Amino acid sequence: MLHAGWTERVTRPSAATLAWGALIVLAAAAWFVTGARISARLGFDAAAPAVGVIAAAVVAVTIWRWARADGEQVALARGRCPRCRCPLAARHEHARPGALAEGLIEWSCAACGYDHTEPLTCERCAS
Ligand SMILES: [Zn+2]
Ligand SMILES: [Zn+2]
Repeated sequence: MLHAGWTERVTRPSAATLAWGALIVLAAAAWFVTGARISARLGFDAAAPAVGVIAAAVVAVTIWRWARADGEQVALARGRCPRCRCPLAARHEHARPGALAEGLIEWSCAACGYDHTEPLTCERCAS
C-alpha cells in the first residue's frame, strides 16, 4: 500500500523529526561514553565498549519511543493519521452517569485501519 502521504513523509522529514534525530544521536553518544567509563572504572576494561553500546542503544530506543509518541500526539491533534496522514474520523463517547465508564475519544483511519482510543471527559459528559 503506497500512499502519497507516505512518500512525502519519507522524502521530507519534518523539523520535529530532525530535532528528535539529533537528540537521539547526542544522547546515545553521551551514554556510550558514560557507559564505557563506568564499566572501565569498575574494572571491566574489556567489556567497556560493549557496555557503552548497550547504554547507547537503550537510550536511543527510549528516546525513539518518546519521539514516536510525540509524533502520534501531534498528528492526532491535527486530525491526521500518524501512519498514513489521511484525515481521521474522531468519535467521542460521553462518560456514563454515575461514573460507570469514563468518557472516551476514539480516532480511526478508514485508509489504513489505524485505531487509537484515549480517555476524554468533555464539558458535556455526565458528571
Ligand atoms: Zn463528553
Ligand atoms: Zn491511516
